Amino acid sequence: MDPRLLLHSIVGVNFLLFLWEFFLTYRQKAKHDSTPKRPREVESIISEGDFVKARSYSIDHLSFSMIRMLIECGIMIAMLYGGYYSYLWSLSELTAYPIAAFLILHYLIAFIIDLPLSLYENFVIEDSHGFNKYTISFYMFDAVKKLILTTVITIPLGWGAVWLMENGGDLFFIYLWLFISVVILGMMTIYPAYIAPLFDQYSPLPDGQLKTAIEELAAKLHYPLTKIYVVDGSTRSGHSNAYMYGFWKNKRIVLYDTLLSGEEKEKVYAALGKEEPMHEDGRSKEDEKGMGVEEVVAVVAHELGHWALSHTTRQLVTAELNILLALFCFSFFHNNENLAAAFGFNGGAPPLLSLLVIMQYMMVVYNEASSLFTVFITRRMEFEADEYAAKLGFAPKLSTALIKLSKDNLTLPVNDDLYSLCRHTHPPVTERVETLKKFM
Ligand SMILES: [Zn+2]
Repeated sequence: MDPRLLLHSIVGVNFLLFLWEFFLTYRQKAKHDSTPKRPREVESIISEGDFVKARSYSIDHLSFSMIRMLIECGIMIAMLYGGYYSYLWSLSELTAYPIAAFLILHYLIAFIIDLPLSLYENFVIEDSHGFNKYTISFYMFDAVKKLILTTVITIPLGWGAVWLMENGGDLFFIYLWLFISVVILGMMTIYPAYIAPLFDQYSPLPDGQLKTAIEELAAKLHYPLTKIYVVDGSTRSGHSNAYMYGFWKNKRIVLYDTLLSGEEKEKVYAALGKEEPMHEDGRSKEDEKGMGVEEVVAVVAHELGHWALSHTTRQLVTAELNILLALFCFSFFHNNENLAAAFGFNGGAPPLLSLLVIMQYMMVVYNEASSLFTVFITRRMEFEADEYAAKLGFAPKLSTALIKLSKDNLTLPVNDDLYSLCRHTHPPVTERVETLKKFM
């Protein structure tokens, strides 16, 4: 195909995907716009006051997402028609290390373009709904740290990938896949132990009722728990969460401090050396947030369900197969000179660039399909983990925990069906609570 026509087609397909994404978000926003009053079926889940707050947060957030999508789509079209990739590569080739130079410039440009949007999102939208806990300087420090870290990690990966593409022959995609797999497993080990602590403070959960209850549950289920950490998520954001990680016999559970309440929270704040934010009249600002001990344990039971049902392993295997398939498809295109010319490279694209642009722009339909598949699988796993916790007798507490979590995170329990189907990895709280009722 003629390179010019090829470029139009690539831009066209990417534009269609933008329209699809925009359409989904628009539907969700329209649903929220048209639901000013709390529907009867969610009365047991959310109070009228919280409904108003959650709705306004959601509408602001979705409106901003749509603006962001428009801007990003405009930038994408400008980059593709403007020959961004070939221009940046020709600049990088002037240096002794073109791959490193390209990645540094590319990440830096993406960072600068994204910065005003991220600042607005955090300091205007999140802030006006009480979630932002950053100061501007702390935010910038974090963002620059993230940029440097990503660049430093990606450069050796880029070198490795290019070497394999140049020396791996016809089966290079298999070697590349093995290389990526080793990197993923390595990152899964290194990230929680060495990288996450660069950003957040982790502290062992202090002794007490909560720790004992979690340890008893883990022992009962033969979960090889070695440590329970609390992370100071509240330094950055008021959103809350819990997760587990670790290989084989060395598993950890991490709780966000924002999940906790009362005495447990005070102990954790003391351990982290933090002060509780106070209202002027001396009341704690976070008194109304967080869960009781039994509810946190119910959340942990759900997380352990993911482990007992091998969800993590299943997800990892699916991701691995997905990468192999994507690289296999890539192997058909990477030497195509017309395609390279469409992106402004005459006489073939350098391996790093063919990997970047083909994966990003040529495989968009494949990527969207695989993400829909992932959403579908993840949502099923959430129901399975809920069921696991429910069978252990946690249905009532998990149910109230989910309701509190949804309230604390200002999640609106009203959704457009199509949006929810395509985007919610976690089923809406209404569906989860309804399913849990079967076990009560
Ligand atoms: Zn889950």
